[in-house]
Amino acid sequence: MPATVTGPVAELGATLMHEHVFGLSPEILWNWPDIPEGWDLETRAREAAAKLDALKAAGIDTVVDLTVVGLGRYVPAVQRVAELTSVTIVAATGLYTYDALPPYFGNRGPGSLFGGPDRLAEFFVRDLTEGIGRTGVKAAMLKCASDRQGMTDGCRRVFRAVAEAHLTTGAPITTHSHSASRGGLEQQKLLASLGVDLGRVVIGHAGDSTDLAYLEELVANGSYLGMDRFGIDTICPFDDRVAVVAAMCERGHAGRMVLGHDSYCFNDRFDAAVVRRRHPRYHLLHISQDVLPALRARGVTEEQIHQMLVGNPRRIFG
Ligand SMILES: [Zn+2]
Repeated sequence: MPATVTGPVAELGATLMHEHVFGLSPEILWNWPDIPEGWDLETRAREAAAKLDALKAAGIDTVVDLTVVGLGRYVPAVQRVAELTSVTIVAATGLYTYDALPPYFGNRGPGSLFGGPDRLAEFFVRDLTEGIGRTGVKAAMLKCASDRQGMTDGCRRVFRAVAEAHLTTGAPITTHSHSASRGGLEQQKLLASLGVDLGRVVIGHAGDSTDLAYLEELVANGSYLGMDRFGIDTICPFDDRVAVVAAMCERGHAGRMVLGHDSYCFNDRFDAAVVRRRHPRYHLLHISQDVLPALRARGVTEEQIHQMLVGNPRRIFG
């Protein structure tokens, strides 16, 4: 049974595989607490719970919160949201960097200035088996990232630690990838070389690509594709995102795609008003309200939608 913020559940149901509850900048909030995006846990938790309850009413049961260290993970706040909402929330562990490691990790470990053991894998395993911080909330998914810069030394260390934690615990892996440079292939190659079964890996942000040959190569290597940035139309427009998912379904790959928005209930790194203006459909209800109807109009069947929302997440966490 997959672990969630409120404990293990038998069924996740319809699941969005890449979302965020909160993205916080703790060092900014410590030092400039009066920023306009100011943080009040209870207020923001109630706001987030209301957004998630609207999602539940639109037919989604679970969100996987891929906020890991580097994105401002603060699980006590997510726990409060989970108490208030009927949506199930799955927590993740890992580290988000495109480049160097944060100094805490970068100054330790093999090849570093001060040396000593690398704590990344140890911390990830602790999150998965004992719980995050002092909350007792167990993570159920591992996350690592690489972007435009490719597999930097810092990224490589995170991938190695994620692979080690995966092999120790069996938890599935998701990535943040840079589709424009076909970055998912480099991620697959590294993970496979570390002994990871690519069938336990979601290549996140694959849906930013309209290159069907690239996507089919990722699938042929065994991984799931994260079609997970619906609403971020400046990277890839709505019609293209929908057309790619429909085409991949037609080619028999509905069993290899998962859906999401990569949205935040609250993120202090965005100016919410500007984001609403520039990306009016970048919110949690976009898939239910706009994407699923558009997929149906393009011939995607209910069975295929069920696979992407229910069956594939069940297998990934199974
Ligand atoms: Zn994300």
